[in-house]
Parts: sequence; structure tokens; C-alpha cells
Amino acid sequence: MNTVCVVGASLAGLLTARALRAQGYQGRLVLVGDEQHRPYDRPPLSKDFLRGDLSEADLALEGEGEELDAEWRLGVAAVALDARQRRVELSDGTSVQADGIVIATGATARRLPCAGELTGVHTLRTLDDARALRADLEQGRKLVVIGGGFVGAEVAATARDLGLDVTLVESGPAPLARVVGVPMAEALAALHRRRGVRLLPGSVVTELTGDGRVDGVRLADGTHLPADVVVVGIGAVPTIDWLQDSGLELGDGVLCDEAGGTSVPGIVAVGDCAAWYDPNQGSHHRIEHWTGARQRASVAAATLLSGGTARTEARRPSYIWSDQFDVKIQFIGHAADADTVSVEEGDPAGHSFLAVYRQGDRPVAVLGVNQVRLFTRWRRQLETAPVQVA
Ligand SMILES: Cc1cc2nc3c(=O)[nH]c(=O)nc-3n(C[C@H](O)[C@H](O)[C@H](O)COP(=O)(O)OP(=O)(O)OC[C@H]3O[C@@H](n4cnc5c(N)ncnc54)[C@H](O)[C@@H]3O)c2cc1C
Repeated sequence: MNTVCVVGASLAGLLTARALRAQGYQGRLVLVGDEQHRPYDRPPLSKDFLRGDLSEADLALEGEGEELDAEWRLGVAAVALDARQRRVELSDGTSVQADGIVIATGATARRLPCAGELTGVHTLRTLDDARALRADLEQGRKLVVIGGGFVGAEVAATARDLGLDVTLVESGPAPLARVVGVPMAEALAALHRRRGVRLLPGSVVTELTGDGRVDGVRLADGTHLPADVVVVGIGAVPTIDWLQDSGLELGDGVLCDEAGGTSVPGIVAVGDCAAWYDPNQGSHHRIEHWTGARQRASVAAATLLSGGTARTEARRPSYIWSDQFDVKIQFIGHAADADTVSVEEGDPAGHSFLAVYRQGDRPVAVLGVNQVRLFTRWRRQLETAPVQVA
């Protein structure tokens, strides 16, 4: 290979580029990113950075003095891919002809169809989004968060820390219920309530009100929630629109084998945009979490350098962490696979506990809340063999 083009200059793209170099690739390396910024870390955008405890410089993903010997094409989007020719067309009218291509274009925050063009309404995916939201939170008094996924719950917690009046509207039974299941989600909801977040589960938003600037959120039951800032946290969709006519197989993401190889040899996909095949489940899945991108980058690089032969390896259960208020939430596995869940350490009312999810006798997932040491032991067990910790 003489030229590898990495599209998406963020976590997955940077780590795959690094892995290519570490695995001996010495050819031309081109990194294309549509943001103007050098690669930065997204998790703090809803936490420490939003709270003002971290600066933009603290978000840098590159090490000081790190030299990848790469051509950086920042502020330029890939607009099309000819997969057979391995040519990436760019928004500035140029193109990159490559022998290998890494697709790492991540995900894009889903928008609320009824949001219109009102100012004061935010999604949170990029550094620019976080700058704009931070500025609005500094001025704002009443925040309504729509959506109780990780980003929504984290923004709600951060905004409470900043002293705002916060309401979180969630269509399901409780925030995070889709990931941790309803009983444990209720325990996490209690944390938010205790810290003053008003939770409205089972509520559907029908309209954002305001004239130029948002002044409230209307629910299906007619309730009007006054707001001067609104955050829409209703998930993200894989950024694959630019690949529609590429010839690659697409679904909920770029469809890949279990080592990141796409339907076209010489092209791999990694990170939030990639749906890798999971032999345990017999289907493709995207993992929209930091550790997923980190763990898979070296596998994708190896697949690319090996010429498309999938290198299979045992699949690790997906791991997620989240910081809300002063609480560290960690989760590994699939709650949906479990028949039972039991609290095995601590007390959910005290906000330090560990819960184990089991299918029959077999642990299939673990939730830790301010239980880092014990959770780490369980995590090791689930990643090696699903047996119980003594
Ligand atoms: C606010 C927030 C908080 C989070 N907190 C956590 C957390 O606590 N724990 C956790 O595990 N995970 C968290 N995540 C998820 C984690 O950050 C992502 O899983 C990770 O960023 C995925 O990396 P990626 O490189 O695949 O995608 P991204 O980080 O989305 O990067 C993709 C890059 O590609 C660029 N791009 C897109 N299209 C094009 C194109 N056509 N041409 C060129 N460039 C393009 C994008 O602009 C972006 O820079 C959080 C995410 C957000 C947004």
C-alpha cells in the first residue's frame, strides 16, 4: 500500500492512523476531517468542559509532540466515495486516490423535526456545539433537556451543577432505561431527583414554542414547560450519507465483518459509523461509545494491512461509562439478555452500588455506581469468561 486515506479525523480515525503506523505502515497517510479542529475528545463536552472545568487545550487527543507523518486535510468534507476505484471526493473539489481507506465519520446528533430554526435550541456532538451551549447556559435560567440517554442525563446533571432550573423530558419509563433496564434506571433517576432535576418520564414533545428564540416546550398532554435553553438529546445517526452511492453495503452504519472489513476489499470502517458483525448475536451492531472505537482501531488497521482477511478474535462485551454529578456510572454487557438483576453491593438509595444481571446463573452485564474497584474486577471477568467473581 502506498496511500491510505482516513476519513474522519477524530477518535476512531486518529487511533486507526496511529495503529497503522504502529503496525509498520510507512506509506502516505492522509487524514480528512470536516471540522477545523485537530482531533479532540468528546466525552468532556457534556461534563467538565461544559461546566467550565476543562479548557479546549485539555481536550486534545494527540500527545504532545506526537508525529504521525500524515497529511491533514482539516475543514474539508468527503462528499463521495467510489469504492471500486478507492477514490474519495472532497468538498473543495479535489480527490484522494488511495490503496486503502478507513471510514471513521462517526455519528451526527439526531434533530427534533418540530424544532424549526429557533435559537436557544441545541444538540451536542461537536466542540462548536459545546461552545454554543456553554455560552447559552451561562445566560440561561431554565433548561429543558429532551431525551434521557447518556448525553441528555449528563447535560442535565452539569446544568444543575451550574445552578440552572432543569427539567428532563423522556418518552420512556426512566432515563437510561434502554441501556440499564427499568429497575436500575429508576435508581439512577432518584439521583437526579435528589439533586433537583425535574424528571418527566413517559412524556412526548409535540412543539417548541417561541418567536425567534425558544421560550418553551409543549408536551402531548398540553403541558407547557417554560425554557430559555433547550437541549435535544435524542440519539445520533451514523454519518454515512456521503456513502450512499459508493457501492458499499450500508445499513444502520457501514456494514462490516467482525474485524472491520467492509463489503469492498481495501476499505475498513471503525467507530460510531461502523456496524461490525457480532457472531454471538448473529447480526451487525454499532457501538456508540469511546471504548468501542478505542478497542477496534487496531483490529481495523490489521484488517486493512492484511489485505482484507478478517482477523477474528473473541468479542468483548461493550463497556460504557458516564459521569453525572459526583457519580461515576459504569456498565458492561447487555441488560436485555438478562432474566434477573440483583444488587450485590451497596445501596441504590445511597448512590454507591453494584448490580449484576444474569441469564440463568450466567452473569451477562454489570452496573457499577461509584464502585470502580469492584466493577473493574467484574469487568475483567466478563471480558475473559463470563464466570462469577468469588
Ligand atoms: C457529548 C458527548 C459525550 C460523550 N460521552 C461519552 C462517555 O461518557 N462515555 C463513552 O463511552 N462515550 C461517550 N461519548 C461517545 C464517544 O465520544 C464516541 O463514541 C466517539 O467520539 C466516537 O468516535 P468516532 O471517531 O467514531 O466518531 P466522532 O467522534 O463522531 O468523529 C467523527 C469525525 O468525522 C467527521 N466527519 C463526519 N463526516 C465527515 C465527512 N464526510 N468528511 C470528513 N469528516 C467527516 C466528524 O465531523 C468528526 O470529526 C460521548 C459523545 C458525545 C457527543
